[in-house]
Amino acid sequence: MSKEVLLEIKNLHVGYKTHMGVSHVLNGVNLTVHKGERVGVIGESGSGKTTTMKSILRILPSNAIIKKGEIFYKGKNVLEMKEDELLNLRRKKISMIFQDPTSALNPLFKVGQIMLDIIKYSYKLEDEEAKEMALKALKEAALPDPERVFDSYPFQLSGGMRQRVCIALALIGDRELIIADEPTTNLDVTIKAQVLNLLTSLVREKNVGWIFVSQALGAVRENVDRVYVMYAGNIIEWGPSRKVFSNPLHPYTQKLLECVPKLTGKEFSKGIRGRIPNYFKPPSGCRFHPRCDYVLDECKKSVPEAVEVEHEHFVACNLYRR
Ligand code: SF4
Repeated sequence: MSKEVLLEIKNLHVGYKTHMGVSHVLNGVNLTVHKGERVGVIGESGSGKTTTMKSILRILPSNAIIKKGEIFYKGKNVLEMKEDELLNLRRKKISMIFQDPTSALNPLFKVGQIMLDIIKYSYKLEDEEAKEMALKALKEAALPDPERVFDSYPFQLSGGMRQRVCIALALIGDRELIIADEPTTNLDVTIKAQVLNLLTSLVREKNVGWIFVSQALGAVRENVDRVYVMYAGNIIEWGPSRKVFSNPLHPYTQKLLECVPKLTGKEFSKGIRGRIPNYFKPPSGCRFHPRCDYVLDECKKSVPEAVEVEHEHFVACNLYRR
């Protein structure tokens, strides 16, 4: 894996305007993906994972406010890109696979029409070449009988097949970064593994960068090089996947990993007490402090800075600053 930086998010702060005021969701997110690297992002629902991913492509809802921060893609700040540069980035460089393949595909059009529109618009190809490209992508996504899928409406396909179509769309052309936001959450348990295996093998084969956002900790552990742990709008721990999973440092990461059911079925975690904070009035300092068993006075005063505890393994927690 190259150490050339593909994506770098720096100190990103994002909030949402609502009728109740502004919710302060992202609180200084930092995240890096190298060329061809597979990166996982884990954390509870509501921790800001999807907001971070949507910020990369600037597809946040209209009430979102990017208050501070930078997102560099190959050295260029996405947040300052003009419309045509941004469209080029979305059409040819970065693609996103969403949680729900049903809402990702327009039900009024056949799969082929959806694919042709995207390919022709992005690559300026004639009908025949575009169709060839679409069928090749469907074949690569292991869809049996690509011609039939091409000629079907999304509702005529199963959930697993629809997500394979989305994977085919995401990998068309020479993409450099694929963002998969909980790509298997809405699938049947038997299909989840098949879709994930397909996605990971295509990502490896094409050597593209990959951000895998998931709450399926086992799947993340198996399939990424490095992992970021996110809590309440902050990245609180990151490092090589095997180090973070075998030696979790942050009290939140430790609790999160304890929540994974054991195969023996003998021990059940009590879970993490409390809940993700209210983003309208988030806790001061370390946002985890109301739930932490080790809270110190300084934890309530300022956001803890990250320290490198072992090679390339970082944690943002005051317990490691002494
Ligand atoms: Fe707990 Fe303090 Fe570490 Fe936050 S910084 S996780 S409150 S010990």
